[in-house]
Amino acid sequence: MKVITTISEMLSTRSDVADSIGLVPTMGYLHEGHLSLVRRARSENKIVIVTIFVNPSQFGPEEDLDSYPRDLSRDRNLLRAEGVDMVFVPSPDELYPSGYQTWIELVELSGVLEGARRPGHFRGVATIVAKLFNLTRPSRAYFGQKDSQQAILLRRLISDLHFDIDLVICPTIREGHGLAMSSRNSYLTANERERAAVLFEALTTAGTTYKAGERDASKLRALISDKLAAEPVAHPEYVSIADLETLHEIEGQISAPVLVSIAVQVGGARLIDNVWLGVHVG
Ligand code: AMP
Repeated sequence: MKVITTISEMLSTRSDVADSIGLVPTMGYLHEGHLSLVRRARSENKIVIVTIFVNPSQFGPEEDLDSYPRDLSRDRNLLRAEGVDMVFVPSPDELYPSGYQTWIELVELSGVLEGARRPGHFRGVATIVAKLFNLTRPSRAYFGQKDSQQAILLRRLISDLHFDIDLVICPTIREGHGLAMSSRNSYLTANERERAAVLFEALTTAGTTYKAGERDASKLRALISDKLAAEPVAHPEYVSIADLETLHEIEGQISAPVLVSIAVQVGGARLIDNVWLGVHVG
């Protein structure tokens, strides 16, 4: 497994590859969710490139850039065991040298849901992912349903900027009790981690009610809010039911596939989770 830290080496190594490339962009501190993406990429491509970069431009000034968990040597061992061909681990200065000034903004998709609470977040995400696409020129790129808005926005970016890349969205991997795996779960105490199962329980309640025939978006949102309100450690930021493509909030009846998404503060962690209704992930 080749570990690459500079842009010049990434570009020269990439230009020697004629085979299909699967790209898995990450911020490291890897868990089974990341590894599920790596395994899918491994099974569908000749060459697998994983990037590990805690991208400063997607963190707000009050956010956890400095405290974001990092363990590069553990990550490297996990990726080697998965048969990854290349790991690209650039420094911030390598990707944002002094004088850097080019940014990508998705006019509508950047501003709702997570984007409304985290100004500039998706500008940072869109820009870094486009840069990684240019540096690695993959055939396929793998993203988790866990961050659905990110995946939906990147699908739009690929289409709008004519990247010749298939975006593959992989299902959310969860702990046994339902909590979606996340590097930020390391901010939770053992008790908070148990109680954080309420996020998926609330989403599952909405899913079951939808499957039983309920199509009123307000009623489903209320069900989720009530479930979250019953757990004292959970402090919801938003509960949304939005069109799965445009991310426009649904006010009346649900008639097309929807993204049901929540952001909830639990202890020191801001957790997000979601389910899709009316569609299968794969
Ligand atoms: P991150 O390191 O948080 O930027 O995540 C890197 C990629 O892994 C993103 O595409 C995430 O959506 C995906 N990912 C993170 N957590 C999970 C999970 N629990 N299940 C599936 N994919 C995940």
